[in-house]
Formats: sequence, C-alpha cells, structure tokens
Amino acid sequence: MKVIYFTTREPAGSICNAELPSFTAGGNWLATPAAGWQNAFMKTVVLQEPGKLLVTETEPPAEAAEGEALVRVHRVGICGTDLHAYRGRQPFLEYPRILGHELGVEILEIGENAAGLGPGDLCSVEPYLNCNNCISCRAGRPNCCTRLEVLGVHVDGGMREIISVPVGKLHPSGKLSTDQLALVETLGIGSHAVERAGLEQGESVLVIGCGPIGLSVIQFAQLAGANLSVVDLDPERLRFCREQFNIENTLTGGPNAAEELADLLGDNPPTAVFDVTGNAKSMMQSFRYIAQGGRIIFVGIVMDDISFYDPDFHRMELTLLASRNSRPQDFQRIIEGMESGAIDTQPWITHRAGCEDLVESFAQWVEPGSGVVKAVLEI
Ligand SMILES: [Zn+2]
Ligand SMILES: [Zn+2]
Repeated sequence: MKVIYFTTREPAGSICNAELPSFTAGGNWLATPAAGWQNAFMKTVVLQEPGKLLVTETEPPAEAAEGEALVRVHRVGICGTDLHAYRGRQPFLEYPRILGHELGVEILEIGENAAGLGPGDLCSVEPYLNCNNCISCRAGRPNCCTRLEVLGVHVDGGMREIISVPVGKLHPSGKLSTDQLALVETLGIGSHAVERAGLEQGESVLVIGCGPIGLSVIQFAQLAGANLSVVDLDPERLRFCREQFNIENTLTGGPNAAEELADLLGDNPPTAVFDVTGNAKSMMQSFRYIAQGGRIIFVGIVMDDISFYDPDFHRMELTLLASRNSRPQDFQRIIEGMESGAIDTQPWITHRAGCEDLVESFAQWVEPGSGVVKAVLEI
C-alpha cells in the first residue's frame, strides 16, 4: 500500500515511513474499468483514525466471491454517519476503516444471475449485509437483521475503485446517472420511516430536524400526501425546505416551538411526528408536539436513554416507533420514482470532491454552517 495524500492536519511525511514507495502521479491508477485492471492498483480512501483520512493505493480484488459481483464504484455519497466517524463519534466503527455506503456503481464482472444483470449495468448498492436466517430476516426485515453488517461502517465500504458485493444487493437502472444512484440509500431511510408510520393522505405531519435524512423523510411524506410542518434550529435549512420543498410551516426550534406550532395548526395538530435529530433532548420533546392518539417515529439514533412521562403516553394512547435503514423494496421504489420524475434529485447534491481534494474538502464539510446537504465523492 502506498500513501499518497495526508490529512491537512498532518505535515506530509509524519505518517509515512521509509519503506513506503513514493507515489508517482499519473501512475497505474484505474481511470476507467479497462482491460487489465487486475494488474493495476486502485485509489482507496482510508479513515485511519478520527480526523485522519488517507488517499492510498490498494490491490483490487482478484475475483468476485461466490454469489457476488465485482463493481466499479463511480460515486460515493457522504452522510452524517461518515462525518460522525471522521469526528470520532461513531461508536460502532473500528479504525482504520474504508468508509462509503451510498454507492453509484457499474458492474465489471458478474456470473449468471436471475436478475439478468451484466457488465456495464449501472446500479445502486444496498449496503446492508444480512444473514438471511435470523428472526428479522425471516420476517422480511433484513434492514434490522440481528447480525447486520453495513458496508463502510462494520466492514470496509466503497471509497475505492472496485469492490465485491452480493448480487442480490445490486439495484439496477437503465436510466439514472451514478450521481442519482448514489442518492438512493439516503432516500431509503426516509422511505422506510414513512412506511413505518403508515401516513394517510392529508395527514398533519411534523418533521423535527431537516438535515439530509430529515429531507428524505420530507420527500416521502410529501409523496404520501401529508400536510407538512418542519422544525430545525438552522434558518438556512428552514429556507431550503421552503424553497426546495414548498413547505410553508417552518419553525425555529426552541422552548416556544411547541406552542408556536399549536397556534399555527389549531385543531389539526400533527398525528405523526418524525424526530430526525439524533438528539436526546429533542427526541424527548417530540412528545410535546404530538396529537392525541398519534405516533412518534424516531429516525435519528442517540447513544443515550430516552424517557417520557408515562401517564401522558397512556392518556394519549401514543405509538412510539423506531425506524432503521431501509428494505430492498425501498430501493426499487426510489429508483422507479427517480426514473419517472416523481422524485426530483436536482436539489440534493450541493458539494463534490475527487480523491485528490477529498481530504481538504472533508475537513470543510464537517464544519457547522458548511451548507452541505449532500456531498459526493467522484472516484
Ligand atoms: Zn448514509
Ligand atoms: Zn438476519
């Protein structure tokens, strides 16, 4: 493995040692999936430890494992999980790790398969590697498999040019770009959360937290015909919701937000509240917004206890739901929605980088106020 770039926080050479050959620009990197790639090195981004990303070279896999396909990764979406990992706030992640779970890929090598997939096909990758045996998998819920491994979190992911993935995790499209295919996983989180809630046409719905995952909830709540209100602390995010998603009821979070929303909605309070903050205080306050008989859906996760006052929970006969990842049918539904134009991907990608400027860009994207909705690595 050759070290090519260093984080901007480290002077070049501090990680390197004398045994590492120096990198020659324009060497045998894989620019495209050309013949003979097995003999080349591939660009690989490794998160060595918090705050320390390396762009290096690794050997590509020699062949696909049984039941898997070799794919060329073209686009990797960057999300909160990756930024948390970079900041060292991702408790399940061991370092070093190759990040990347939002992937737009092209098939390089694939065996005979029932789906009729072949080399050159563009796909989104469902990054949830499940066991197919446990009680969740048997119930059609591979998204919360008891032995779940997520690409780029529990095992090395797609921030490298070629990876091997199970054929069943490939979701193809003959129409979409690799940019769009890299967005499917993020949108899946919202799709699944909205399905968990079982929204009805015209239902009053509140989304707390308008980051990328909040926006994906908003997207599918709108497709379900919900009447949306949103709460966030960041005025820029609220502006984005008004301008890109035509949401009128945008409220700034704070001690008075629940009263303000009650005044605004009158006798039509939200019967479904999605909390997408991953913040314990916000999650506990979500009980202040909910209508009698409503359901609260925790989409964001927090490493903490959540408590609520049980007499209120009972008096209002509330339902509390968790939503985790998404299911294969979400991927298919989203790809169809993008192909038909029902899902507009235009507002999503706000920032881009290649391997060459990723280290610098990543350090900027994690800063508050960076304005990143979705950043994409072009690899
Ligand atoms: Zn993600
Ligand atoms: Zn399982």
